[in-house]
Amino acid sequence: MATNATKRLYLDAMGIQVWQRRGFNAVAVDAAPAHVSGTPSTNISPETFPKSNRLDIAGADWSQLGKMVKACTACSLHETRTQTVFGVGSTSARWVFVGEAPGADEDRQGEPFVGRAGRLLNAMLAALGLKREEVYIANVLKCRPPRNRDPQTEEVAQCEPHLLRQIELINPSIIVALGRHAVHSLLKSDKALGKLRGMKHDYHGIPLIATYHPAYLLRTPQDKRKAWDDLRLAKSIVETS
Ligand code: SF4
Repeated sequence: MATNATKRLYLDAMGIQVWQRRGFNAVAVDAAPAHVSGTPSTNISPETFPKSNRLDIAGADWSQLGKMVKACTACSLHETRTQTVFGVGSTSARWVFVGEAPGADEDRQGEPFVGRAGRLLNAMLAALGLKREEVYIANVLKCRPPRNRDPQTEEVAQCEPHLLRQIELINPSIIVALGRHAVHSLLKSDKALGKLRGMKHDYHGIPLIATYHPAYLLRTPQDKRKAWDDLRLAKSIVETS
């Protein structure tokens, strides 16, 4: 856990002034998804998995899943990747953070959320009192789209079962979806991110909070305040689960 002084530093990095913080009780929780309460439990239907490898992925342990992703050729992204980017962190984490796809740094290093966006994510985690190794970090797609283009529907359909199995194995208390594409992929919605953030959603029985991608926050620092509000909402859900 980060010390208070460290948290202050990271809150500063996020553009959050400590004297502005409000108590968690002041954070509005959307009342709509009443079915998301209590201890989360995954209930992932085998129908969710592509026919070709449905049984393999659905029943895979961590080691098998890692090997499957490494060898995966289910979509055309395998042709241009340097390597797959599986995910990193604690396999018993209460928090799972999900982005859309690896970028150039991630493709090179084989780890999600490195580089400047990764450093901001680390700052966001530290502001929550979390270390990177305490949470689990992954992307919807495990291979980099060429020139960082947007993920395509078919690629998400082929790759999401890997993420689903990761989440099923972890069984976290909260999923934080980072950025428009990750949010749209997980929630199967095309609503603006601004309309999806600030409330609790459900992803296969796990509470999900939508917020901005760290790369977007680097370009749009005025929205860091909203991202911090989203993270506080996520924290309030974890603390009451
Ligand atoms: Fe397989 Fe996913 Fe990579 Fe496509 S993006 S090749 S589905 S691991």
